[in-house]
Amino acid sequence: MGAELLDGKKLAAEMRAEIRRKVAELKASKQIEPGLGVLLVGENPASVSYVTAKEKACAEAGILSKEIRLPATATQDEIVAVVRQFNADPQIHGILVQLPLPKGIDENAVIETISPEKDVDGFTPVNIGRMMIGLPSFLPCTPHGIIRMLLKAGVETAGKHAVVIGRSNIVGKPVAHLLSRKALGGNATVTICHTRTCDLASYTRNADILVVAAGHANTVTGDMVKPGAVVIDVGVNRVPDATFPRGYRLCGDVDFESVSRVASLLTPVPGGVGPLTITMLLFNTLEAASRAAGDSAAV
Ligand code: NAD
Repeated sequence: MGAELLDGKKLAAEMRAEIRRKVAELKASKQIEPGLGVLLVGENPASVSYVTAKEKACAEAGILSKEIRLPATATQDEIVAVVRQFNADPQIHGILVQLPLPKGIDENAVIETISPEKDVDGFTPVNIGRMMIGLPSFLPCTPHGIIRMLLKAGVETAGKHAVVIGRSNIVGKPVAHLLSRKALGGNATVTICHTRTCDLASYTRNADILVVAAGHANTVTGDMVKPGAVVIDVGVNRVPDATFPRGYRLCGDVDFESVSRVASLLTPVPGGVGPLTITMLLFNTLEAASRAAGDSAAV
């Protein structure tokens, strides 16, 4: 049996075309151009490439992006000042603070400074709290993208056992919540595994849907997967490889070769979850601009 691949690029392209259309509509009807404020601190190569990809996607969708770069030596106060500047800027509807921030910076304090109305990453306590109790909120982009993928692929989540590896605020915890909430793409029974989980394979082998967000290559191998399971590989790892022009290649957290022989559906890396994450950022920025205009854009 060979797994069918869940094509994140294709789904992202379809959604981005719809977002582009809605952005043009908002500009024509309300003279509002959605704007994203991007703060990048330091020169972490992965962060630089994520920010570049996000800004390119904004430009293609007709969304303005304003980038402010600070050196890795920037202080907490300097970083917070940029967030406050974006909060006050009427051209900016969404704020992206690229994480991680350099060591010594209190990330939570920076995130808490973002105005909840502009929190298009869905990371502020206000948005997370609203999400948890089922109120309208900006959903975190990667978890939201995963749910969209499952829905698009016609994967039934209700009544299924979903296992999430990872408990980060950005991926693990929110995706576990979205899979278990009483809503479309939810209603699953969810187990969260983490570094202190004993006998990880005993959980993953019982998963109908397995979401892997551990941040390490080969965390899941084919023998850990239930035959026919749906596997969502969130991980992005750089593995040194001299045969690639940049000297490294990207891989996920699952061993693609062995897992693809057991799963029924699998997301590739790259080209799976990543394109959806950026798309949901555009979606939230359009939504923020529409709300500022007194509308809701829901794509
Ligand atoms: P993180 O390091 O904050 O969290 C990793 C989590 O995995 C932790 O909670 C840890 O307890 C758990 N974990 C690690 N190793 C484990 C193991 N062997 N067994 C069980 N649990 C284990 O990472 P994150 O921010 O949640 O990101 C996870 C991965 O997803 C990273 O590779 C990251 O680059 C990637 N990511 C991709 C996208 C995307 O758009 N494709 C977006 C966000 C993150």
